[in-house]
Amino acid sequence: MLEGSCPYASFSDAMSFDPADSQIYVVLVHYHELGLKGRNRPTFERQLISNINKTLKESEFEAKVERISGRILVFPRNYEKGLAMFELLKKVPGVARVSLGEKVSRTLEGLNQGALRVLELSEPFNSFKVAARRANTNFYLDSMMLNREIGAYLVQHTEDKTVKMTNPDVTVHVEVIKNQSYVYAFSKPAVGGLPVGTAGKLVCLLSSGLDSPVAAWQMIRRGASVTGLHFSGAPQTADSSSHLVREIATAMQPYGGFTDIHCLHFGNYQRAIALVVPEKLRIIFYRRLMYATACELAGRIGAKGIVTGESLGQVASQTIDNILAVDAVATLPVLRPLIGTDKKDIITQAEDLGTFAISTRSTDDCCTLFMPRSPETHAKLQEVEELWQTLPHAQWVEELLSG
Ligand code: ATP
Ligand code: MG
Repeated sequence: MLEGSCPYASFSDAMSFDPADSQIYVVLVHYHELGLKGRNRPTFERQLISNINKTLKESEFEAKVERISGRILVFPRNYEKGLAMFELLKKVPGVARVSLGEKVSRTLEGLNQGALRVLELSEPFNSFKVAARRANTNFYLDSMMLNREIGAYLVQHTEDKTVKMTNPDVTVHVEVIKNQSYVYAFSKPAVGGLPVGTAGKLVCLLSSGLDSPVAAWQMIRRGASVTGLHFSGAPQTADSSSHLVREIATAMQPYGGFTDIHCLHFGNYQRAIALVVPEKLRIIFYRRLMYATACELAGRIGAKGIVTGESLGQVASQTIDNILAVDAVATLPVLRPLIGTDKKDIITQAEDLGTFAISTRSTDDCCTLFMPRSPETHAKLQEVEELWQTLPHAQWVEELLSG
């Protein structure tokens, strides 16, 4: 029997796959930045594999996950499951590109037939090309020869299709690696970044607004494990903003998600601040108490920085003077990934992330509670510090975190 006529013959682990399905579908996970990590590379790869397994498990997919040089392979039970996994894996931080194709036998016949099947799945199209890659192997055809041979086979076995070397409608990728080979034509860029769990822990001040979920996501995409910290107006208002924050966290789960979410009742402390702090400075003090609480929580869970959704000049509280007046209370680095981002770009990212519709639902939260009519835009740090020292802020932080 020819090696190419029975793909399972070369894949003894195939028992878990539906034998009625004669093809072995494969989702190929390509990574890029991870590949630049030198000696740390195995750690990054292991974390990415673990995150992929977790993502699949959360969606109740059973699949074998395997690493080959420069790729992670996921074997779905059938093509439909492969498509669903393809969509899931596109969102996982650290994944640069995802492709869906087949594992085929390492013979010209196997490669030809597989290439034809993945090409046919790409209908409708007019033009195509073959892009072969031969890595770490003594396969008897090099990549140029593979391009020619497989290209000729595809022309012979299709009608009205032309080979086009620049900008073809479809590119059939053929990879011959050691004793394995893969073909795929369906391939899309993914989210990129680094695997969650490779860049330490952070605490994100998470409102139910548009900006902070996007800020958190940018840090998650850089590999950070992020704990969300939300302050609701309860008991002075309903606790509805906490529900929105939890909905936001659920929406972000496929994109790496949060390690944990803490929702604290902030209303009484805002009231206490409003009673003694001049109206113009209230927001500065609310933020200071939030930052101080975030730093304390970070210390307790081993996080080494906090994240906020501020963007320079976006609202009165986000002038550089006010950022200085708030920042001085922080005992850890404050990361502001959106500081130079325009609102319109933040909105686009929130839409892509699926948080826009949740964040734009109006709700009672601490942002509308005891707010000044005209907030200070140029707070004086010394004035703020002096007043801050008169408040029992350490006790408030303790109470908030034990609540
Ligand atoms: P967002 O869209 O994230 O609410 P914003 O443009 O409304 O941001 P502000 O209300 O000035 O900005 O808040 C600045 C940052 O302070 C927020 O991005 C967030 O990180 C944090 N923050 C504001 N309100 C809360 C809250 N209720 N709970 C936790 N963090 C908050
Ligand atoms: Mg806000």
